[in-house]
Order: sequence, then C-alpha cells, then structure tokens
Amino acid sequence: MKKKIIFAADIGGTTCKLGIFDQNLRCIQKWAINTDTSDQTGVQLLKQIHNAFVEKSTMLNYQLEDVIGVGIGVPGPVDFETGVVRGAVNLNWPESVPVAKIMSGLSGRPVFVDNDANVAALGEMHKGSGQNHSDIAMITLGTGVGGGIVSNGKIVHGHNGSGAEIGHIRVDHDQRFKCNCGKSGCIETVASATGVINLVHYYHPQLSIQSQLLPLINDNSVSAKDVFEAAKKGDLFGLFIVEKVSQYIAYLASILSVTSNPKYIIVGGGMSEAGHILIENIKTAYQQIVFTPAQEGTEILQAQLGNDAGMVGAAGLIKTYMIEKE
Ligand SMILES: [Zn+2]
Repeated sequence: MKKKIIFAADIGGTTCKLGIFDQNLRCIQKWAINTDTSDQTGVQLLKQIHNAFVEKSTMLNYQLEDVIGVGIGVPGPVDFETGVVRGAVNLNWPESVPVAKIMSGLSGRPVFVDNDANVAALGEMHKGSGQNHSDIAMITLGTGVGGGIVSNGKIVHGHNGSGAEIGHIRVDHDQRFKCNCGKSGCIETVASATGVINLVHYYHPQLSIQSQLLPLINDNSVSAKDVFEAAKKGDLFGLFIVEKVSQYIAYLASILSVTSNPKYIIVGGGMSEAGHILIENIKTAYQQIVFTPAQEGTEILQAQLGNDAGMVGAAGLIKTYMIEKE
C-alpha cells in the first residue's frame, strides 16, 4: 500500500520552511520559499505555499488524496479550534486571516494551525530533546522570549489561546525596561537577546569590572552573542550578565515546573546556541529555587532541532491531532 504523507509549513517573516513527512514524522523532503508579504489578506501567500506543496509532491509521485493533513505554524496569535490567525505583524497581516479555511479550500485536506512557539515545542517533543515524552515545556530565547507547553501530549492553548505566552511573565519588578507588549518588566526585557543588551547597558556604568566587551559597549554595538563568547573566555562582566539572565530563565522554569510539571524543559531559539554555559547556569539557579518535589526527574536540555523545530512541529500537529487521535 502506498504511504500517506503530511504537508508541513513553518511560515516566517522572511522565509517559509516547507516539508513533506511520512506518518511517523520522517522527513521525505524539505525546502524553503520566500515569504510574500505583499498581500494583507494572506491568500496569495497561502496559494504559493499550496502550489509549492503540489509541485513537490507530484515530483515525488504523490497525489492530494495521499495527504493526511496540512500542519501550519505562524508567527502570531492563533485560535486553534478554528485555525484563524488573529493578525501577524511580521507577515503584514493586520487583520484576522482564516488560514485553515483558506488552506483546506485549496487542498481539500484537513488543516491544523498553531503559533510558531507552540509548534516548535511540539517538534522538539516528537523528534528533538523531548524524546516523545508527553509532558514537556519549551522556552525559546530569540529577539523575544516565546514558549510552548505540551501537557499529556497536547499543546496547552488555554481559553483564548494565550497559554504559554511565557515571555510576558513579569520578573523585573523594578520595571526597568519597556516590553513590546506595552507593559514593562516582562522576562522578554531581561532574558532575550534584546534583554541581554538591556542588562549590559544597565549594569555596566554601575560596576567597575574590567571587560573585553568595553569597546563594543562604548560603541553601542555589543550583541548577546558577544556577551556569551566573553563569558566563555572567563570575562567577569560577561559572566555576571550570563548569571543574571540564567537566574531569570530559571525562575521561569520554576513556574513551569509547579504548573505543568514537565519532564523536559527545553531551551531553544538563537540564544540557546550559547550552549553549555547557559544551560549549566540555568540548572544551578533552578536547583536552588524550585520546589524540591517538582524538580525530581526534571531535566533542562538544549533544543536539538534548531530552525527545523517549527516545521517538524507543524507536521507534528497532524500526528498529534489526527493520527494518534484515531
Ligand atoms: Zn511583555
């Protein structure tokens, strides 16, 4: 019998990562197309994605009837039940876009849509650091802080889709920095790549520590990556900042541990590429602050799938909500 396949798309602001998977989430083919942001209704972009799927799957000798479903991740808030995206700044979608309805109209197949941080968590659960455990949480550290929680094998959406919007937990009660969300003191302002820079400029004038970062700080060109690189070489100011950032992330992990009690807390996103130094500092702070029964058996791990997490997780939507449901 011919194998069934899954179409998966991780729609980003500049590129859409596309994949064709088998029903065990083995990747048959992956590629990317540019994201067309010229049409505010989203229809044009979704048509381009659909056409790309049809073209590639035809080359591989599949028809649309062979497609179990289409999984899509988008950078914006999503109503999971209806597959409506409630606007997406990076895609130039100012209004709601009924992504599931448009896509199923084109393909005639069932469509599942979720936000990019949630699908990344699902991707890591199925094929990455999550090792297929049904209780995991992912913290994505990029320009901002995103998150996804999988509890009992299902993504936590909450009553209006804001479940796991962990970037906006207030951890900085002095509210030193304003957040993109309009409020202040969110963890995103102190533990993202942007947050690292905020802390550097805040603490540097107060501390008389020699640092190799000084020329970059004075030049206003220091990056989070520079800070982690300096810390790895033993730079005291770099280490001070890395410890601060790790404490905030550990605090976030402590909240996750006593709410959904994940087996794996997976740290992903561009900043996680700092690797060992970040993970070890988070672990140290985590062990000190977390309710002891909640941390027993919990592991803090670096994500494994990198930029593919969203695409794998988009395919994972079909595996979790269609194949395993049967
Ligand atoms: Zn915020």
